[in-house]
Amino acid sequence: MERSHFERLALEALQQIPDDLRAFLDNVDIVVEDWPAQDQLAGHLIGEDEYLLGLYEGVPLTERHEYGMVLPDKITLFQEPIEAVCSSRDEVIEQIRQTVEHEVAHHFGIDDDRLHELGAG
Ligand SMILES: [Zn+2]
Repeated sequence: MERSHFERLALEALQQIPDDLRAFLDNVDIVVEDWPAQDQLAGHLIGEDEYLLGLYEGVPLTERHEYGMVLPDKITLFQEPIEAVCSSRDEVIEQIRQTVEHEVAHHFGIDDDRLHELGAG
């Protein structure tokens, strides 16, 4: 899939976040990279057959006590791993949507353990 198309799908996924949640998105950028960089993998427990599909970097809303003059939060989607775990275009679209939702949840201060409990790990 072309990068520009993948990026468009990522933006669409962000726009599909329900309105009442999306209204609370604050200072978030979404970007697409081929693969995670070494330092982006740090701190993530990735099994041998697993890939990091997306990454949230920033200050969750729940931790913004003295927040100002900081870079926007960043949600990164990794195109190559996402395509590697999907076998069709529809699956890619669905995976993008799930990954964006997962990373948006981190923006709202929900951690991975809780997301696993909610079945959205
Ligand atoms: Zn996560």
